[in-house]
Amino acid sequence: MKPAPFAYAKARSLEEAVALIGGHADARLLAGGQSLIATLNMRLSAPGLLVDINGIGGLDGIALNGGMVEIGALVRHAQAERSELIAKHAPLLARALPHIGHPAIRNRGTIGGSIAFADPAAELPACLLALGGEVEAMGPKGKRTIKAEDFFLGLFETALDAGDILTAIRLPAADKNTRIGFAELARRHGDYAMVGLAATARADGKSLADVRLAFFGIGATPLRARKAETALTGTIDDRRIEAAVAALELDPPDDLQATGAVKKHLAGVLLKRVVRQLMEPQS
Ligand SMILES: Cc1cc2nc3c(=O)[nH]c(=O)nc-3n(C[C@H](O)[C@H](O)[C@H](O)COP(=O)(O)OP(=O)(O)OC[C@H]3O[C@@H](n4cnc5c(N)ncnc54)[C@H](O)[C@@H]3O)c2cc1C
Repeated sequence: MKPAPFAYAKARSLEEAVALIGGHADARLLAGGQSLIATLNMRLSAPGLLVDINGIGGLDGIALNGGMVEIGALVRHAQAERSELIAKHAPLLARALPHIGHPAIRNRGTIGGSIAFADPAAELPACLLALGGEVEAMGPKGKRTIKAEDFFLGLFETALDAGDILTAIRLPAADKNTRIGFAELARRHGDYAMVGLAATARADGKSLADVRLAFFGIGATPLRARKAETALTGTIDDRRIEAAVAALELDPPDDLQATGAVKKHLAGVLLKRVVRQLMEPQS
């Protein structure tokens, strides 16, 4: 299929992009196009205007600022994957990125596009939530910062308003006590996950503290498993791990990939794998 007709404009600045989307009721931003173009071609979406943000300077940087890793919206997945700064200071992201699609998709797809699109089976929204990161957005009323906890509202629905542009994400930089874990189950490497789990914790001697578990592929948004987080706080042994699995308060719906019951079982399998990762010091 071919997309419905649309107009195209290439913005050269954030201000111009905000003005362009603000001036059209059915405008959409175009970043890497890896999700948007597919939805246009399938006619799941028919915007009247595409506002291309790829020509806007200053949105493709990766920096460490005041204990936070800041990643510009137009940083490509592949660029982030190769970044030494991300490998050192945001190792959860480094571990998750190779699971996104295939190299051709990661060469074009952007960090901002992935977070803004908020696919419930996507890796990066769950990482943002697990890390307790935040999103920087710019809209007609200026800049604002939205915490990950407040960002994912529903299926493909975020706290961004129609006229907002996501400009960057910020993640707390890892330190020597940071522990991370990531695992997903997909039918083939590169497919969207049936179920996935991004996790962080702080090492406290042989114990874990501040455990954050963000599951994806099991609901409309990435979801924290708070009772399991509590169950994992303390010295980890088999009994505590089993208690955490039993405390998983997930109720995933059936989807094309698996039944809810299978997904819930897989969530327990992933939790056990990820706890083992959380117990290992980061190299
Ligand atoms: C075959 C295939 C497999 C894939 N597998 C995976 C996978 O396993 N995991 C995964 O996470 N993703 C996967 N993807 C999607 C990929 O990661 C996309 O790159 C990503 O979801 C969207 O990023 P993009 O830059 O391409 O955004 P686009 O497609 O350009 O835009 C997506 C949406 O986000 C909006 N948007 C984009 N940028 C911004 C911004 N800065 N501010 C506000 N709104 C914005 C657009 O208007 C649009 O609505 C796959 C894609 C394909 C084609």
